[in-house]
Amino acid sequence: MISQLLLQSLSKDKLSVFLFHKVPLHCDPLVPHDLTLDRFEYLLDHTLSRFNVLPLEEAVKRLQRGRLPRRAACITFDDGYADWMTGALPALQKRNLHATFFITTGQLGGLPLWHERIQAAVRSLPSTLLDLGIPSMANLSTATLTDRQALVVRLEQELKYLTLAAREQALLRLEAAAGVQPEALPRMSEALLRHLHSLGFGVGGHTINHPILNLCDEKEIVKEVAGVREQLQSIVGGVIAGFAYPNGRPNADFSSRHVDAVRRAGYAYAVTTHWGVANPTTSPFQIPRFTPWAKRDWHATFQTGRNLLERPVQIPEGLD
Ligand SMILES: [Zn+2]
Repeated sequence: MISQLLLQSLSKDKLSVFLFHKVPLHCDPLVPHDLTLDRFEYLLDHTLSRFNVLPLEEAVKRLQRGRLPRRAACITFDDGYADWMTGALPALQKRNLHATFFITTGQLGGLPLWHERIQAAVRSLPSTLLDLGIPSMANLSTATLTDRQALVVRLEQELKYLTLAAREQALLRLEAAAGVQPEALPRMSEALLRHLHSLGFGVGGHTINHPILNLCDEKEIVKEVAGVREQLQSIVGGVIAGFAYPNGRPNADFSSRHVDAVRRAGYAYAVTTHWGVANPTTSPFQIPRFTPWAKRDWHATFQTGRNLLERPVQIPEGLD
């Protein structure tokens, strides 16, 4: 009860936006810290149940007009995963909760998300020392499950900050060593995307190829930011209002020119991955988001309460 009163008073004119990704039914031993469906449902029932969940587009408008209810929160998902269909989606519907899904469209009819390709390849790599031709990663061991878990983390760190062309080259080398065909891996479909939209869930852009925008040239920025909006609008037959910056850390992953590109592309708002909550002075193009990671109910609720005190980092914006 005390925590509910505290939440009520701390949340005035503040918008908490929760961020999720893949929500698998079972824990994958290769990535044991990923949120599973039972933990996601536990969070919905014990932490998010303390909030008034609103559609994100509506919440951003209400925040700007000073008409946000207390304990306002939104639920968001990034990337696009086939398992949403049988996991996250029914869990949300059962509780009548709205969510917005930010989609990386390159996987629709193309190859899976880059980090999904890493995981699939590491699972199938032979148990011998390996050289992927990445200078900082010589003589990699895949002998034990712990080695493979560490390798997934290392590869994600190393490949994340490569250009798209260099990342693709490294992925192809990794998949050749593992004997994996990326076309055969599960990924999100256009049918699932249309299904989400037809049910009234929010759909937003999360680029075509999930690059670090700071590493893109001007042409790539337009393609990744405006191009994804056009693709999504033609698939769902509706207006796409929101964008999520890939990796999402202000300054490290995107800069003011990317915020400008998002405005110019016609979006009404954008979300980052910086912790904190939006207040009426927060730019609608830099709404922070947060994922409570604690396993215990009281701890996840404490993390969410503490997040209400985080000030959002804002990159100064160039237009207007
Ligand atoms: Zn992402």
